Amino acid sequence: MTDSEAAQRFLEQLRAQTRAAFGIPPDHFDYGSYHDDVIESVLSTWTPEDQRDQQLRARLEQEVRGIHSYDEYMSGVLAKMQVHLAEIAAKIVSGVSPPTIHVGHLETGQLNAASILVPGHNDTYLAVFEDQLWMFAKYLSTAVALTIPGYDTPDGMFQLTLANDDIAARLKDNKEIGDLFGAGVLNYVVKGKFTPQDYPLSPGHRNFAYMLETGLEYFVLAHEYGHVILSHPDGATRSRSMLPVSDVEALAYSWGEEYDADLFGMLLAYPACSKYFRLPFEITFMGISLFFDALEIIDRAVALLETGDENILQVGSHPPRALRLKHLRANLPHLVEAHPSMSDDIEAALKLADIQRKAIDMLWEHCRPTFAGLRKYAGIRAHPKWRIFRKEP
Ligand SMILES: [Zn+2]
Repeated sequence: MTDSEAAQRFLEQLRAQTRAAFGIPPDHFDYGSYHDDVIESVLSTWTPEDQRDQQLRARLEQEVRGIHSYDEYMSGVLAKMQVHLAEIAAKIVSGVSPPTIHVGHLETGQLNAASILVPGHNDTYLAVFEDQLWMFAKYLSTAVALTIPGYDTPDGMFQLTLANDDIAARLKDNKEIGDLFGAGVLNYVVKGKFTPQDYPLSPGHRNFAYMLETGLEYFVLAHEYGHVILSHPDGATRSRSMLPVSDVEALAYSWGEEYDADLFGMLLAYPACSKYFRLPFEITFMGISLFFDALEIIDRAVALLETGDENILQVGSHPPRALRLKHLRANLPHLVEAHPSMSDDIEAALKLADIQRKAIDMLWEHCRPTFAGLRKYAGIRAHPKWRIFRKEP
C-alpha cells in the first residue's frame, strides 16, 4: 500500500469511528440549493468573456452537478486548492519541489488543522481540517458581507464604503442579519455541525462573501504547506489526545513555528488567490483575518455555554488567536520593504480587517444574551466534540 493509500484508509477509519461515537450520519451533506449556489459563485469570479463561453459553462455544470456527497465535495475542493498552492509554492521557494501533503476533512473538534501520524508509515501524516470548517467559512463570510457597509456596482461586484460607524446602524435596522449569525454559530457549537440557512443575497454581496471565504480557506491550507516547507514536522514532538475520540499521535508544533506557518501561509495564499481568483491583497487579508475572528467566535461561544464566562476557555491548542494575528500584522511592514508598491494595499488591508473585526464583535454582542440565556434557562451546552482547553494567561 502506498503512503497515500494508507493515509486515505486511515482517514476513513477515523471518520467512521468519530461519526459512530457522536451519532453523526455517514454523510450529512445538505444538497439544498448547493449546486446552483456553487455554480453562481464560480461564475461570479469569471470574466464576462468566459461567462459567455458555452463550452466552459457546460464543463462547470457537469463538474459541479456530479458531486453527490460531502466527501466528494471536500475531496474536489482540497485537490484543486492543492494544485494551486503547490504551483505557487514551487515559484516562491526556489530549489524546493512542492511538497506532497495528505489532506482531508474529519470531525477534529477544532478550527485549526491537526497533523496526525498514519500508523505503520512512520513519516507519513495527514493534515486534517475540521469537518465543517468550509461550511462555517461560507456562512461567516456571508454574515460579514451583509454587515459591512457598501453597495452593489452595475457589474455585480461589491464596493466597500469603509464607513466604520455605519455598521451599528446597519445591524440595528436589519436585526435578521444578527439573528442569522447567532443561529448559525449556535447550530455549529451545539450540534457540532453547521446547518446552512438560505439568505437572499444580492450579486455583489454573494461575490464579496465568496472572496472572503476563498481568502480564508486558502490561508488555512497554505498554513499547513508552511509547516511542511519550513520542515516543522522533522522536529515536532508527538502528542496524543488531539482528536475528540481516537488516541492517535499528532504532531505538536511550537508557538514560534505556528507564527512562521501563519506568515508563510499568508505569503503563499495571497499569490494563489490573486492568480486564480483575482483577489486583491486587502481582500485576501480580510479572509485571513476572518479565520482568526472565526476561532475567537467559536472560543467565546463554547466557553460561554460551558462555563458562563466567554473568556476562560479556548478550542484547540494553537497559540491564542490575538497573538497570532498580532504577529502576522507586525510582519506587514516587512512586506512593504520588499514590495514598496504594496504600501497602499497593506494600509487598506489593515483598515478593512479592523472594520471586519468590529462587524464580528457587534454580531457577537447581538447574540451573546441568547447564548447566555440558553445556558442558564435551558441547560444548553457545547457539543462534546469540541477540544476544550483552559486559555493560556
Ligand atoms: Zn499550525
